[in-house]
Amino acid sequence: MRDPGRILLVGAGPAGLGAAWRLHELGHADWLLLEAREGPGGLAASYVDPQGFTWDCGGHVQFSHYAYYDAVLDRALGAGWLHHRRRAGVWLGGRLVPYPLQHNLHRLPAADRERALAGLERLQKVPGDLRVQKVPGELPDDLPDSVAERAERVPGDFHEWVLATFGEGLAELFFEPYNEKVWGYPLRELDWGWVGERVAPPDLERLRRQLAAGEDDADWGPNRTFRFPERGGTGAIWSAVADLLPGERRRCRARVVRIDAAARTLRLASGEELAWETILSTAPLDRLVEMTAGLPGELRALGRRLRHSAVHVVGVGLCGPRPAALDGVGWLYFPEPGSPYYRVTVFSNYSPHHVPEGDGHWSLMAEVCESPHRPVAAAGLGDAVVAALRTDGLVPPAVRVASLWHHREEHGYPTPFLGRDAVLDPLLAGLDRLGIHSRGRFGAWKYEVSNQDHAFMQGVELAERLLGVGEEVTLRDPGRVNAGAYLSDPARLGAPAAARSSESAKP
Ligand SMILES: Cc1cc2nc3c(=O)[nH]c(=O)nc-3n(C[C@H](O)[C@H](O)[C@H](O)COP(=O)(O)OP(=O)(O)OC[C@H]3O[C@@H](n4cnc5c(N)ncnc54)[C@H](O)[C@@H]3O)c2cc1C
Repeated sequence: MRDPGRILLVGAGPAGLGAAWRLHELGHADWLLLEAREGPGGLAASYVDPQGFTWDCGGHVQFSHYAYYDAVLDRALGAGWLHHRRRAGVWLGGRLVPYPLQHNLHRLPAADRERALAGLERLQKVPGDLRVQKVPGELPDDLPDSVAERAERVPGDFHEWVLATFGEGLAELFFEPYNEKVWGYPLRELDWGWVGERVAPPDLERLRRQLAAGEDDADWGPNRTFRFPERGGTGAIWSAVADLLPGERRRCRARVVRIDAAARTLRLASGEELAWETILSTAPLDRLVEMTAGLPGELRALGRRLRHSAVHVVGVGLCGPRPAALDGVGWLYFPEPGSPYYRVTVFSNYSPHHVPEGDGHWSLMAEVCESPHRPVAAAGLGDAVVAALRTDGLVPPAVRVASLWHHREEHGYPTPFLGRDAVLDPLLAGLDRLGIHSRGRFGAWKYEVSNQDHAFMQGVELAERLLGVGEEVTLRDPGRVNAGAYLSDPARLGAPAAARSSESAKP
């Protein structure tokens, strides 16, 4: 193994913890984990409010692409998991349509259903009518050249991709208003390369069969079942992972305020200076650029071009009978402009321990996007959320608000803006050359690999690269990991049981 010398890890969220864990596991002892906040977890931390309700920073679901990630979480939390079947929906016109909407059109009012179907049929029937082709190269052979040429055009932005994939009806009903609400940027300013396996493609034949049968089809997708900590919210996972690490190598309340790229020193808010040979920063990349002295001007200029949105999380602790429509529901999407939130999680359905003991408590957690295009008046937001939840029928008049919790994160979503990779690639490479590796949700700024599992594994893979025993697949090839290349991982975890037994059976 290569010796990368003293490594300072900035941030004890999933990415920093993943790197620290892998360095520890592989026997490299010269590292120190520095976290600005009171405890580990970063955006995946949890909080208990004064009334005793537990909250996450928005709906967090474990949705793993890596056998290794699952194995570390098993080890950290042992038997402390609850297992759930996803029940998610879209709240449209005062009714719950099971997720994904495009597979459950029979639940829409007749006029909306016809509009959605007409858009999908138009996409299929007349290839010449396609504004863009959803997957280049998937065209019928017998198209006239002029049509094929036009239809082969790859979508130029996310707005075009939505129209080309779902048709006008579904775009207007859900995909455009929802995505504008969640991203906070005009869809024409966004790229679509991040979509990957996150969105269910509509299959018209299947839709027609299912419309005739009138049955729900809510089982699509990789996170149709998920596990959740029984106690302590998502943050319990990251506290448990931190506890696997030697206590003397991790420090909380240690905010990094300056990095000197030439002198290879780092300063904490306390004034303490530390020397380093290598840095892994999981702080937001724009902030890292701002606080690093000695960077070439072109890297600074790139840092200023990054786009993001903030997220407000409003936790509403409730007392009184929960509407039957919310039985077993995990989360709901809200595309309509009347409500400030784009998603609401029924957080008490994830664990009964998320609410104070005693009958009648339950909880809703709403997420609201803030961006330069979508300003939010933070002062009145809690009350606005409660009012909208009442109007939407999720909080009936007889139910009392027992607690109102408001949390804002400036860096909530790394925006997949058009031209992002032309900014990111040279910026990350330039920092790498200085021995400063920026990874994680906002460290690497790649939404397609910004969930907890991705962030943790970006840390793991960087640790392996620094020690000369592995490469960084998640950062370099998101499509490969999201397609499931690491759902089994004999290199890290040993050969799968089946392979081992067949090998041992060989004469
Ligand atoms: C609303 C919302 C919903 C989400 N839902 C899901 C989900 O369903 N499933 C899922 O897997 N993921 C989800 N995520 C993503 C998940 O939160 C992230 O993947 C994960 O937290 C990223 O880990 P990270 O270590 O890269 O960054 P972070 O969690 O941001 O951690 C970075 C850490 O660095 C610290 N830091 C920053 N600057 C400094 C400094 N100067 N000095 C010292 N420390 C510093 C911060 O305090 C923080 O602890 C969601 C995120 C949001 C915002």
